Amino acid sequence: MSARILDGVALSQEARQQVARDAARLLAQHGQRPGLAVILVGDDPASAVYVRNKLRACNDHGLHSVLERYSANLSQVELIARIDALNADPSVHGILVQMPLPPHLDPHAVIATIRTDKDVDGFSLHSAGALMSGLPGLLPATPLGCMALIRRTGVDLRGKHAVVIGRSNTVGKPMALLLLQANATVTVCHSATLDLGLHTRQADVLVAAVGKRHQVTADMVKPGAIVIDVGINRDQDGKLCGDVDFAAVREVAGWISPVPGGVGPMTITMLLMNTLQAAKAQLS
Ligand code: NAP
Repeated sequence: MSARILDGVALSQEARQQVARDAARLLAQHGQRPGLAVILVGDDPASAVYVRNKLRACNDHGLHSVLERYSANLSQVELIARIDALNADPSVHGILVQMPLPPHLDPHAVIATIRTDKDVDGFSLHSAGALMSGLPGLLPATPLGCMALIRRTGVDLRGKHAVVIGRSNTVGKPMALLLLQANATVTVCHSATLDLGLHTRQADVLVAAVGKRHQVTADMVKPGAIVIDVGINRDQDGKLCGDVDFAAVREVAGWISPVPGGVGPMTITMLLMNTLQAAKAQLS
């Protein structure tokens, strides 16, 4: 039987309508919209597309957004000065620096400059530490989006075996921690994992965050599993695809998120929700 599709576009629409209602309420109560500032340095075309989509989503759902775009030769001192100014700007509740930065800029120092309560990407050491300690804070949008898709299945994660492929600070590690918080038993795989399929075949929930097309094939998936595909790749025809061999895996899995239309829109939705959360905290 073919897997049920975890439709990130449909789920996003519901959540974004709620964001728009909450943003309107905030405007009525405080005379201010939730505000997101995005800093884009350089001319990476993929980054420009991601930023455009984020800003469009803000504008479509009643959030105030600001784009600060700089050439690739912006200095570290200049970038940090801009973040300091946004930190002090009361109309900006969330600050996002689009990654990757040009190589002469230190992403860790840049992220550390963002005020903790405006860190809507959840990438700072403080946010990462809060997640690890189970304390409240702003959480990274992509793993949050994956969790929302998983919850949509209605499956209770308690005692389930979740396998995450990938251990980046932005996706794999926070994903594993969120699954752990949901009482799953979690395995994290990476490029040094021996026999990846041995692990993935045991997964009730499988999250692929690698960045390699067809990394997950049908023989690597447990029948009935929830499969979440985070990867963004191009196939031989230049079309967008994930890490999972979608056509084959959907015949084995119980639920599967497509690419495009799965984790991607959910990531933007969670960014809107984080900006709203930050605005509520700052305006209360
Ligand atoms: P990343 O930093 O490059 O991390 C990739 C991870 O995959 C690393 O931990 C790496 O292991 C692991 N890996 C590489 N080859 C492997 C293999 N053969 N077997 C098992 N693990 C392997 O990438 P990322 O930032 O986490 O992103 C992952 C993918 O998700 C990318 O395609 C990215 O574009 C996409 N993404 C999508 C969204 C969205 O909104 N849809 C958001 C963020 C990222 P090592 O640690 O050992 O190197």
